[in-house]
Amino acid sequence: MIVVLSGGTGTPKLLIGLKDLEDFAVIVNTAEDIWISGNKVCPDIDSVIYALADVIDENKWWGLRGDSFRTHEMILKLGGDEFMAIGDLDRAVHIFRSELLRRGYTLTEATRKLRISFGVEQEVLPMCEEEVSTMILTSRGEMHFQEFWIKFKGLPEVLDVYFKGIENARATEDVLRVLDDCDFVLIGPSNPITSIMPILLVKGVKEMLREKFVIAVSPIVGKNPVSGPAGKFMRAKGYEVSPIGVVNVYSDFLDVLIVDRVDEGLVGKYGDVKIVSTNTIMKSRDDARRLAQFILKKFKT
Ligand code: GDP
Repeated sequence: MIVVLSGGTGTPKLLIGLKDLEDFAVIVNTAEDIWISGNKVCPDIDSVIYALADVIDENKWWGLRGDSFRTHEMILKLGGDEFMAIGDLDRAVHIFRSELLRRGYTLTEATRKLRISFGVEQEVLPMCEEEVSTMILTSRGEMHFQEFWIKFKGLPEVLDVYFKGIENARATEDVLRVLDDCDFVLIGPSNPITSIMPILLVKGVKEMLREKFVIAVSPIVGKNPVSGPAGKFMRAKGYEVSPIGVVNVYSDFLDVLIVDRVDEGLVGKYGDVKIVSTNTIMKSRDDARRLAQFILKKFKT
């Protein structure tokens, strides 16, 4: 069994390729979660569940395939300022989750109920129970990650990123159990700052990773992320935007970094980290499956 650390786009793509090949549990970032129109939205948890259930909208990598947006449109018509476009069926998931939380379920329990309802066999575990919010300090003021990315379209200059509430976050028993049980840990190609760093800062996680064999897939290919704002955030945090910058974010515990063929020149050793290369761009399920096969063949003993 392996453990995968995940955000909501790059890693879920890889999970689709991995799911018929190997047993795994996923530890998911919850620092991008936000309450919208009275419901708790967990974008990364939902993308992981939707991807594994084969219902994700693969054009956007969020939301459910074929969803409609009538409730969202009505809220806007009524004068609401719901800045995230939430699909009708997607919203049903948020309502169901929030109702469970209001009834006293933990987020771990509510997520378990949801993923079972979607027929997902793999464990999908929120990184912690405590609420953590990724805040972006920008030239236009401080804002939640979702406001920065959706309302402001990722345009403001980024001065810093921090995780409100992270000092109270502790790894859950389930997170510690799967980390203890696994053969190795795979950090998927996710945003190192806003998707993976919050997981690493949850008390108890990094200590476990130091004891484990840890492999990461670089979300940076050449000098740019494949998609999304990872470059802006890495720069703001003082990291070079390159696979070497990714190694530096994970330097405390990383054993292997998988880079794209474009970065073949980096193959070898960088400090204690081994760098290997293969095709890491996943445009199709076959691409994802090939990358998953490469990882298992090379590192699963
Ligand atoms: P978020 O939660 O939606 O921000 O998503 P993630 O953090 O899981 O994924 C975003 C990261 O995935 C970005 O930094 C992208 O560069 C990376 N990414 C997306 N697709 C691919 C891909 O096909 N290959 C690789 N190597 N990285 C990818």
